[in-house]
Amino acid sequence: MILADAHTHSLFSHDGKAPREEMARGAYEKGLSVLYQTEHFDAYSDGGTMRVRYFEDAIFSAPPYPDPPVALPLSIEVGEMGEAFSEARELLQRRPYEFVLGALHHLKGEKGFLSREYSSDGECRTLFARYLDELLAAAEETDYDSLAHMDYPLRYFYAKRGLLLRLEDYPREVEEILRAVIRRGKALELNTATLRKGYPFLMTETLRRFREMGGTLVTVGSDAHAPEDIAFAFDRAEAALREAGFSSYTIYQNRRPVPIPLSEGTACAAGPIGT
Ligand SMILES: [Zn+2]
Ligand SMILES: [Zn+2]
Repeated sequence: MILADAHTHSLFSHDGKAPREEMARGAYEKGLSVLYQTEHFDAYSDGGTMRVRYFEDAIFSAPPYPDPPVALPLSIEVGEMGEAFSEARELLQRRPYEFVLGALHHLKGEKGFLSREYSSDGECRTLFARYLDELLAAAEETDYDSLAHMDYPLRYFYAKRGLLLRLEDYPREVEEILRAVIRRGKALELNTATLRKGYPFLMTETLRRFREMGGTLVTVGSDAHAPEDIAFAFDRAEAALREAGFSSYTIYQNRRPVPIPLSEGTACAAGPIGT
């Protein structure tokens, strides 16, 4: 059983739906012992000027919960890190993050995959090839612990055009990214929001290839923005991990990976950590 959700958002993310305390309570009610509140740090273009959006003041001035029901390691989802490289590096040095997700939500100079429209299947394929290129550069060069939702654009191609592309359709590009993740000792994220958004598959075959190539670290996240979505489809995530040949998942403490056997009943022996 997976008892740590390593990817969630609260009102301290621009698209969050619930306060942090409600998310923590939601995690407890789902039987989790660890919740990573990976609020968004995003780079975006504002009329040609690159800006960064991160609710740092709100996050770090908020009083700690009086009695957090689960462990809450300080964590973050850094999007578009290649575009905000120096800002991200400074931030990660300034604060004692325990876990950093690295993600790509838009291509350089383009609108986000979530908000843009797609005029043809060919356009989707072209954009996805560019995405894999930019993701490879980010995987090779930036500072992160786990590479988030590698299959991210596919859910929107499917939802908006009914186009069902799979990571397995791009074996060479995918392997290059996996190789970079493994060489740098990083983790791959299995993100279950892809199912919540209606896409029919988890990236089980990519996990299997990752393991065959020597990858050992996989974090599991629901990408919940509301309490009801915490640990969404974690039973299917566990089945995917086992099918791909993994017998553990990974959590992070002080930016160091800690393997947790899938059979173990607790994800973290320590008490609440961080805010
Ligand atoms: Zn994301
Ligand atoms: Zn997220």
